[in-house]
Amino acid sequence: MQKKTAIVTGAARGIGLATTRLFLNEGWQVAMIDRDAPALEDAASGLDGALPFLCDVSQPDQVDATLPRIIDAFGGVDALVNNAGIADFGPIAETDFARWRRVMETNLDGVFLMSQAALGPLCARRGAIVNIASISGLRASTLRVAYGTSKAAVIQLTKQQAAELGEFGVRANCVCPGPVRTKLAMAVHSQEIIDAYHDAIPLNRYGSETEIAEVIVFLCSGRASYVSGQVIAVDGGFESTG
Ligand code: NDP
Repeated sequence: MQKKTAIVTGAARGIGLATTRLFLNEGWQVAMIDRDAPALEDAASGLDGALPFLCDVSQPDQVDATLPRIIDAFGGVDALVNNAGIADFGPIAETDFARWRRVMETNLDGVFLMSQAALGPLCARRGAIVNIASISGLRASTLRVAYGTSKAAVIQLTKQQAAELGEFGVRANCVCPGPVRTKLAMAVHSQEIIDAYHDAIPLNRYGSETEIAEVIVFLCSGRASYVSGQVIAVDGGFESTG
């Protein structure tokens, strides 16, 4: 039987790499997209069934050039995981337009551009989109004006996709991870933020990359064939206590 193909963005490390590994374990093949060339090569080497594609998802020309290469390599697309993201925490007064745009370009424009470019192939296979937002897109807290706003927009974008693409058999869902000790999080989580999360999360701990990936891969699979338009927090119970 033909293997299914997933595109995972931000696949060189963190949640994207864990998601890639889980897809491979479940018999999928994976197009790994990232903008960090050495990290991407390193991550993809030795992963049987995965191929690296260097691409900055915030750049329309790069996205448009990459999708045909993925189709050439794998023949089609059954799932798109829009996971690439950046974090930049700071007070509103110190968030100048360049910082704001940088966050929006990857976290929001990247999701739009990748989904747009993969739309035809996804419709052809009645595929699935999973967008990775954040608990910061569900609940406002200080320092996250750009990051939280970008993630709230990703949640709405997911609902728009589910509403419009359902008639083509395409499902769209959103995963909102709680804190996970990745490069992204550790660059912006001060000790104060770490302590606050430990206290506020009912499970009293950070999540692991694999705990997030499990939900992402489930949502892409046939096991979730009637799940669409959902926003699922994977956060140790944090959101339910707010
Ligand atoms: P990591 O920093 O560990 O991995 C993200 C990867 O995406 C990096 O390799 C990064 O490269 C790459 N990337 C960033 N921007 C682009 C771009 N424009 N084009 C292509 N690749 C890009 O992050 P996480 O695994 O923690 O995050 C994955 C997703 O999960 C993000 O969307 C994040 O917002 C979300 N999330 C993470 C949480 C956490 O606590 N870790 C909590 C909630 C949500 P580079 O290193 O060069 O930036």
